[in-house]
Amino acid sequence: MKPNYRRCVSCRRVGPKQEFWRLVRLAGGTTVCLDQGQGRSAYLCPRADCLRLAQRKNRLGRALKASLPETLWETLWQRLGETSQDPPPPPTAEEDDR
Ligand SMILES: [Zn+2]
Repeated sequence: MKPNYRRCVSCRRVGPKQEFWRLVRLAGGTTVCLDQGQGRSAYLCPRADCLRLAQRKNRLGRALKASLPETLWETLWQRLGETSQDPPPPPTAEEDDR
């Protein structure tokens, strides 16, 4: 595996580390942070499938040897919504009035 490649804890896909979310259990504690911090890290694709699997099977918790607080899961789901590539629904058409 190349040095800057990481593996998703859910689907085992390998890719450049910037493609993944990084979860970090801070050294010396059980606090889990997103993106930043020094400590044991786990990586996850920013995809609903991977997030769901990681949550249901506690993949991240096991990889990090710490439990993730509910608020962190909420943050991840929220972030997934923000980064979604789906276009927003079109505004309601009013062309049928004629
Ligand atoms: Zn994945």
